[in-house]
Amino acid sequence: MDNARDCVTKGIIEAEDLKLLAVVDTYGYQCTGCDTQAFPRSYRPENLLRAHFQIRDPHGPNCKAEGESKILAQGKSGSVQQELETYPGLSPARLQLIDTRTIVDPALPRIEKQTQSVGRQDTTGNTARREGRRAANSIRPICRAFLCFPYDRHLSLEVPGVAPTTYQTAFKKLRSKGFELFAQARVFYGELAWSHAVESSEHLTISLNAGEWADKKLSPYQVIVHWQEWSAVARGRLKNELEVARKEGMEARKAKQASRSYLFFIGNQDAQNSALFHVMDHRLICTLHDELVFPPKTAVGSPSQ
Ligand SMILES: [Zn+2]
Repeated sequence: MDNARDCVTKGIIEAEDLKLLAVVDTYGYQCTGCDTQAFPRSYRPENLLRAHFQIRDPHGPNCKAEGESKILAQGKSGSVQQELETYPGLSPARLQLIDTRTIVDPALPRIEKQTQSVGRQDTTGNTARREGRRAANSIRPICRAFLCFPYDRHLSLEVPGVAPTTYQTAFKKLRSKGFELFAQARVFYGELAWSHAVESSEHLTISLNAGEWADKKLSPYQVIVHWQEWSAVARGRLKNELEVARKEGMEARKAKQASRSYLFFIGNQDAQNSALFHVMDHRLICTLHDELVFPPKTAVGSPSQ
């Protein structure tokens, strides 16, 4: 499982965000749908595997999360809208960056505490519907839902600073048909290049396998991550995640699989050079490895490419 519930705050935590914590309480998490313990795995920043939660014991009665794997399987070939509206944690309705607070250790540096944002952000209602389409505190679960549920991209999505209001319209793929100018901020994404990211104390520069072809050579879109203000763990996490994604991408190509490694981000296009994007916040960039599916145009949630 990619997320679990914090036993104390009851907030949903992304496994990858455990990598930002100074201390991880391995007994501090439970299934998102019942009280069964969820054990964090590969959560150390240096782990070159994606973090996740493992459930060892049987789920509680009526646990909705138990059916998640079935929904994920169904979601690739058809709409699972009803399930997404009632199950916890699969399809966030909005991005809500929260600069708070609580949990655990008040001695933690501020940036780590931010990732522990807590509790129910829904104060307007407590119905199953609200629970199902919760707010996310980073783009990661939103981007995962984009990839996992191609037939449900008509669902609403609110992202501060991004004008379009559905999954279908809020995301924009960067392609290899020349550099495009984007008037509006979007959740941009593109296939990750196989080359290593280039690092300095001020920036991390990540190349995409997309951009403009000239003389049989691809001039790539590049994402410049401004990470001066980031904590060492946040920097380390991104670097390792990129390495994991790069390897996943190369292995998938070798094995002739349809899945690819994608970089997702919200950033500003450079005013002078349209090949460049600038990203400031570590919650607004992530990688995912999956198959990118665009349903046939006749289906619900037709492609926005
Ligand atoms: Zn459960």
